[in-house]
Amino acid sequence: MDASIPVARAVAIAGDRVAGGVGTHETALATPDRVDLGGRCVLPGLNDAHVHFPSWALAQREVRLEDTASLDETLQRVASAVGSVEPGHWLRGRGWRSGDWSPAVEPTRQALDAVTGDTPTALTARDYHSLWLNSAALARADGNLQVEGGVVELDDRGEPTGVLREESAWHFRDLYLLGTDDEFVDAMRAGLRIAASRGVTAVHDKDGWLGAPRFWQRIAEEGGLSLRVWQSLPHDFVGWLEEIGLRSGLGDDRLRIGYLKAFMDGTLGSETARMLDGSGVEITSREHLVEIIRAGARAGWPVAVHAIGDLANREALDAFEETRDAWAPLGLRPRIEHAQLLAEEDIPRFGELGVTASVQFSHAPSDRDIADRNWAGMTDRAYAYRSLLDSGAVVANGSDAPIEELDPLAGIRAGVLRTLDEREAWHPEQSVTVEEALEATILAPAWLSRDERTRGKLIPGYLADLVVLDRDPLAIHPEELPEVEVVATMVGGRWTHNPPPWD
Ligand SMILES: [Zn+2]
Repeated sequence: MDASIPVARAVAIAGDRVAGGVGTHETALATPDRVDLGGRCVLPGLNDAHVHFPSWALAQREVRLEDTASLDETLQRVASAVGSVEPGHWLRGRGWRSGDWSPAVEPTRQALDAVTGDTPTALTARDYHSLWLNSAALARADGNLQVEGGVVELDDRGEPTGVLREESAWHFRDLYLLGTDDEFVDAMRAGLRIAASRGVTAVHDKDGWLGAPRFWQRIAEEGGLSLRVWQSLPHDFVGWLEEIGLRSGLGDDRLRIGYLKAFMDGTLGSETARMLDGSGVEITSREHLVEIIRAGARAGWPVAVHAIGDLANREALDAFEETRDAWAPLGLRPRIEHAQLLAEEDIPRFGELGVTASVQFSHAPSDRDIADRNWAGMTDRAYAYRSLLDSGAVVANGSDAPIEELDPLAGIRAGVLRTLDEREAWHPEQSVTVEEALEATILAPAWLSRDERTRGKLIPGYLADLVVLDRDPLAIHPEELPEVEVVATMVGGRWTHNPPPWD
């Protein structure tokens, strides 16, 4: 992955670092351990530039509703889980998306009550921006559901339907639904093993609001932090960070607190993305984002802002442009998360301003049906990864797990093939090459976390974070990408998944 030595025949590792690469006509230096790859391929370790790791880890233990095709099927799956809930505990689930259901219908608490009875039940929508509750769950809030920036769906009689959106959903979650620290840490230990099995050596976590720093810290203290973490914090803390003089980057080479997170709007699936046609939900105004970015710069923090709709993205870009004098001279690396729908004229602004497009290649094929419906006539500028790259933008790839699976190879496939199933590629003109997908998954995230001189390449002095694949993804036909498998993973010179020998 280095322009001057893109490929080497062998790599020497000493301690936690790469000691050297070896060309085609030499042999590796003698070392105590020598691993014959047997024709396999080694790449720098894979990153996930956008993951809600604690939430994803816990979600592995919840009722999963991602592939349900109707309300009935969803309810059946919930019904089959009710029996396993201990008395007094919540039934938690996630992954529903009413836009995927046929016949088309919106969820209601009455439908959920019929299968859950008195067991308080909370089902998070696939995009995280809606929450579907039964009556027992709603009763916990005693009618206090409406908060600023939130939506409480009401029925004909003015009663809550059981669906909360945006801030109302998040407020309810924060008050009633969070797991305990022990639940999170335990789930994360298992999650780290899954991540290692998928070649992941670093993540940019987004669950700072949830307490992720203290979960990671506990795991690190046990010696179990088997990947590198670049952690977000909610932007609301910026004043406090400035006051005590805590700058971005505090931590060590495994765990660092890195950037502030803000939200401009909602999502495609919840129909809350903020659009140039005037629809959608505004979570942060342009003016407020300007203040957040300036405050972040004063305190020494880059800002990552979630923006899905074309107006949300425009206003985020406007805010970064207006504040460029504050953040650019400090070398801060701002980013827009998702950048899903962009006005044609806004695409070049990412590269011009130096704002990274932190996207999720997997979203394009998995959102295609809903985008064709909700964004009809606009999808030629949705998930426009090719256009972003051509315009000179830095593009980083993540999964947004638990919305998609934490699986960088799946993301790379989605970026290149633009399809997940037997269907034709969706907007194939926006496909990226395998090489670009690897750069977005390896180099760009390392750059965002200021690691471009320590990670992302296998050259002398860099950290020995690597993944062994069963074949070279650059040497095969793209159609064969789904067959590429992770064989083993190494972080800092130590195997974190499947040490050799492999035969
Ligand atoms: Zn996210």
